[in-house]
Amino acid sequence: MDVLERYRAAGALLEGHFLLKSGLHSPYFLQSAAVFQYPEHARALAEALAEKLRPFAPDFVIGPAIGGVVLGYLVAEALGARALFAEKDGAGGMFIRPGLVVEPGERFVAVEDVVTTGGSVQKTIEAARARGAELLAVGAVVDRSPTPPEFGVPFVSLVRFVPETYAPEACPLCRAGVPLRRV
Ligand SMILES: [Zn+2]
Repeated sequence: MDVLERYRAAGALLEGHFLLKSGLHSPYFLQSAAVFQYPEHARALAEALAEKLRPFAPDFVIGPAIGGVVLGYLVAEALGARALFAEKDGAGGMFIRPGLVVEPGERFVAVEDVVTTGGSVQKTIEAARARGAELLAVGAVVDRSPTPPEFGVPFVSLVRFVPETYAPEACPLCRAGVPLRRV
């Protein structure tokens, strides 16, 4: 499956000249929510990721809210596992609601739509480990990490896509006079 083609078709991968939240400029802007609004795309992406995670046979799949909730649910469904999510705890970490049961010793995979630094996946992993569960693998639809994150377990993705970014003063798109879009 051409993952980026699905993103393009859904308007989730824009090309042009973008001012990113980081202050850097880039010829690409990726917004996964735009592809996950289409159940058909969401299911196809999740099922492809589930195939890569199937050998790990997890008891549950967990993703960070918000981006990892729909993906985690669909991956879990494809694997016949439970679907959990972690959410921000307001203190820089993430937690799992008490009502979501995690039995000590359960084995899990963590998923996210786009992994850049791996920070929110790592916090999600910590939240599940705090409940006594064991991490088997991490999965991403798009690996956008300039330096692949180190989770200490296998990390699988459907596509690796690391767009160029430029400091404004060194941006060739600025020099070429391409209109800048704030995203
Ligand atoms: Zn620029």
